Amino acid sequence: MTRSRRALLDLIESHPRPLGPRELHRELRRRGTPMDVVSVYRNVAALLELGLLHRVLGSTAVRPCAGREPRCHHAVVCTGCGSAREFHSRPLERALSEVRRATGFSIQEHLLELRGLCAACRSRA
Ligand SMILES: [Zn+2]
Ligand SMILES: [Zn+2]
Ligand SMILES: [Zn+2]
Repeated sequence: MTRSRRALLDLIESHPRPLGPRELHRELRRRGTPMDVVSVYRNVAALLELGLLHRVLGSTAVRPCAGREPRCHHAVVCTGCGSAREFHSRPLERALSEVRRATGFSIQEHLLELRGLCAACRSRA
């Protein structure tokens, strides 16, 4: 892992909500570890490839991976503050196997993200 990727990952892990490449670029400069936009994009792509980050579905923002197990990492994302948490569910995986059997598809991957309000945002509402 290069120093710049480390700095980028540290920023993403310490930030309370997922950030997109432009925001990462701005935040790195603010923290005194500037990186040009092209490098931000390239390093984000590399970290995604390594499985250390996940993209928020339908967005350019990325969040850190909370687990290191080689299994799928689903997330609940707060629509209020943007915070995300990973979860894994055996019953859910079993249900998805059922879909595979029913459709006859050979499934390579599945992406699942639930959106809602986290406990902190709910108590503020
Ligand atoms: Zn993950
Ligand atoms: Zn899954
Ligand atoms: Zn929230």
